[in-house]
Amino acid sequence: MYKSRKNPVPGEGSYKSKIVFVGEGPGRMEDLNGVPFCGASGKLLNELLQIAGLRRGEVYVTNIVKCRPPGNRVPSEDEIEICTSNFLRKQISIIRPKLVVTLGRTSVKALMGREFTMGLEHGNKLMCNYGGVSFELFVSYHPAASLYGAKAKSNLQKDFAKLAKILKSLKLP
Ligand code: URA
Repeated sequence: MYKSRKNPVPGEGSYKSKIVFVGEGPGRMEDLNGVPFCGASGKLLNELLQIAGLRRGEVYVTNIVKCRPPGNRVPSEDEIEICTSNFLRKQISIIRPKLVVTLGRTSVKALMGREFTMGLEHGNKLMCNYGGVSFELFVSYHPAASLYGAKAKSNLQKDFAKLAKILKSLKLP
């Protein structure tokens, strides 16, 4: 994927942040700018962050893979393994987050190491150990899901309202 990318998109935010959002991989705008969630999904993410009472500047935002998969396809298992062992695992071990919010199925699957049925498991808070670092993990949909209809958007908004409560209970940020 690095061959077809315009820019790598490592992540954005402070390594001192205790809250990390993890998406799937850069899209077209992210590839052009080198910044995660800066296109249409970024606008949606920012709206959702507001519901959770968070500002973009106080969280770290990144993706499972750091280069745009051609045509926005889902990254393969091999690509995920190579990219996360070089980057995401290291980022998590440096940041040592208290809470990671996964945005979409690819993201939660990569961090938890198993398949997820988003319809049943979104909105859940789990314990995760990723490369020797333990944190709480909140399962949510990818923000772009809200483009698929009112029901999907309301599920996301409800998840982020729940996230506001979880943040309070964890005394975050
Ligand atoms: N979708 C993602 O998963 N990540 C981005 O950075 C942008 C869109």
